[in-house]
Amino acid sequence: MKSGKVWLVGAGPGDAALITVKGLHVIRRADALVYDRLVCAELLAEAPDGCEMINVGKNPNHHLVPQTEINQILVDCAQRGLNVVRLKGGDPYVFGRGGEEAETLALAGIPFEVVPGISSAIGGLAYAGIPVTHRDYASGFHVITGHLRQGNEPQDWATLAKLEGTLIILMGMTQLTTICQQLVAGGKAPTTPAAVVMYASHQQQQVASGTLLTLADQVAAQGLSAPALIVIGDVVRLRDVLAFTPELLSLNAIPSLI
Ligand code: SAH
Repeated sequence: MKSGKVWLVGAGPGDAALITVKGLHVIRRADALVYDRLVCAELLAEAPDGCEMINVGKNPNHHLVPQTEINQILVDCAQRGLNVVRLKGGDPYVFGRGGEEAETLALAGIPFEVVPGISSAIGGLAYAGIPVTHRDYASGFHVITGHLRQGNEPQDWATLAKLEGTLIILMGMTQLTTICQQLVAGGKAPTTPAAVVMYASHQQQQVASGTLLTLADQVAAQGLSAPALIVIGDVVRLRDVLAFTPELLSLNAIPSLI
């Protein structure tokens, strides 16, 4: 049987309407849709009738489906001749192991495409009123994981403290206190503005802000937890001026391309 094709699609940070035109188009034509926990229901509802919906965010025992199993699901579906959409939060190649999925497909000789998405690291912050760069405050940004694979060394926060520009940390919430302390120990000013954005661009978005010294307490007081972005740098100040309320746009209003 002729192999199907896999599209690795970025769903964007949360607000369903932040999907790309191409991403929405391939979802609407999918035979199988393999999706993660953070992908919103409104996007899943765009799959056609009869599309196989495969949740790999959690298996029936409420455990994460191991990455090797996800890779195998993609290969199996394609080898059954299906057109598969692998829908991932944010951008498929910003953490989240999209690169490994694409490598598996390449090695198995399965045709695939990547449909980039808006990463939470950039678009999620925008929804919280925080521009990742600004001529007056940050001439660059760094996107860092707070969580490393088992057996790996933890991040060298003392070295990262020396970087100029905005620091954006994903998967860092369990380490928040340590991260803030170690950045200060590494030389960042304790008064550096810092914020946590939980469920960025989702309806339940919440933001806590302060400085490297106060952020962890502020987050605890507001009861914020993962999924969240940690952002450190002077651009956080702009939130006071740039925060906005997004208009909710229904995907039904976006016509099919074919
Ligand atoms: N590929 C994704 C990131 C995957 S790693 C992207 O480009 O956005 C998962 C981590 O991303 C989460 O632990 C959290 O730190 C962050 N994240 C993803 N979506 C988020 C959202 N809507 N709000 C806050 N953090 C988010």
